[in-house]
Amino acid sequence: MNLLLQGGWVVTADRLEQADVAVAGEKIAAVGPDLAAPGAQVRDVSGRYILPGVIDAHVHYQMPVGNLFTADDWFTGTRLAACGGVTTVIDYAEPVSPGEPLLAALSRRRAEAGDLACVDFSLHQVVLAGQEEDTVGLKAVVGEGVASFKVFTTYNQRLSPAAIGRLLQQARNLGALVTVHCEDHEMITMKRRELEAAGQTDPAYHAVSRPAAVEVKAIQDLIQKAGEADAPVYIVHVSTGSGAAAIAAARSRGQEVYGETCPHYLLLTAERYAGPESRLFLMCPPLRTAADNEILWQHLAAGGLQVVATDHCSYSRSQKATGTAFYNTPSGVPGTETLLPLLYSYGVRSGWLTLPQLVRVLSTNPARLFGLYPRKGCLAPGSDADLVIFDPRRQVTLTAAGLHSAAGYTVFEGFSLQGYPEATYLRGQLIYDQGHFLGQAGWGRFIPGQVVPGGQDLLK
Ligand SMILES: [Zn+2]
Repeated sequence: MNLLLQGGWVVTADRLEQADVAVAGEKIAAVGPDLAAPGAQVRDVSGRYILPGVIDAHVHYQMPVGNLFTADDWFTGTRLAACGGVTTVIDYAEPVSPGEPLLAALSRRRAEAGDLACVDFSLHQVVLAGQEEDTVGLKAVVGEGVASFKVFTTYNQRLSPAAIGRLLQQARNLGALVTVHCEDHEMITMKRRELEAAGQTDPAYHAVSRPAAVEVKAIQDLIQKAGEADAPVYIVHVSTGSGAAAIAAARSRGQEVYGETCPHYLLLTAERYAGPESRLFLMCPPLRTAADNEILWQHLAAGGLQVVATDHCSYSRSQKATGTAFYNTPSGVPGTETLLPLLYSYGVRSGWLTLPQLVRVLSTNPARLFGLYPRKGCLAPGSDADLVIFDPRRQVTLTAAGLHSAAGYTVFEGFSLQGYPEATYLRGQLIYDQGHFLGQAGWGRFIPGQVVPGGQDLLK
């Protein structure tokens, strides 16, 4: 044994118990009361929770967008992850064009992360138009550790409904999960023309330009397609109460549909676009209403939504300032570092979620869905010793100065928290302790996702 965490409260996907955790090398060796570990370094964690490391299943680090890159690269992105109790991130391998082979895009992205990542990482494979017919290429990336594909219904990367149908069938045959950005492209195009004709193109019109119906229609269409293909499907960053309700309804009919939401959709509203800093809050889909916040919490609590991830896609104030209209402002916000403390304060302490539910939506569910379980997302002997020591008494007011994103701001500035990560271990190694980052570029490893052949319900 190298390490003994003594006297804390262990939280897993199904229980809360007072127990010690012993670590040997990179793995959890034992979990139980009054463990003896001769020679091990002992850390007293009484009064703290010990959680499995958080998995942020939706991040964009070092992403090229036009002629710029997102503010956080693989180093700063994974460093801030460590400081927030996040030990695995899942980013995207996106071909530069439909002509770049899927496997080449995957290898390129892995190599970019390799020397820089401070926490472990996995990759969703973005599939561009035409590539959904590349059976050999899709199979090859699955063989290299891709357990999920990502497609868009809007943007230049969009796939037609027929192409999404073909990809759903290919993915079902491979046992992989298709994840989809759902916004209806035609509705967005029409709305933009209408607003341009009225001279209403300021970033303040962002939410008006992408009303709730844009997301809800795309989600409904996708659920129907997935039903026809008899394939599981995962909808990223659900922002609307009606979108979440459509997912929950499909699930209650027995369809294998999964939904992810993000802290900003749970905690912020479109009123932010009326302020002087609308650009800083601009992301797609946009922020909604307080009623949407509430309905998203309800579905998260009831199991209609299964994952909270951040869609961390950070731009500095000066990058954001290049935007002159809602359609050309860099779209995205930072979020990975504040994921766990926000969900604890506003999810658990507010009574929406139990502690085991918190572990499910932040760690166990994404691990299962993306083929990382039980190596990740599991606090049990044999799993990677990715552990968060969480102090439920620590009071923090969020400020950009206290965070580590190269964005230099947070959309949660001024939020009061009770409860904050105290320390983070990555495979047994202390990488964050009481405000200090102790990790190193290159310590993070690529974790291959293992697909589940047959497509049985991935959360069972
Ligand atoms: Zn995204």
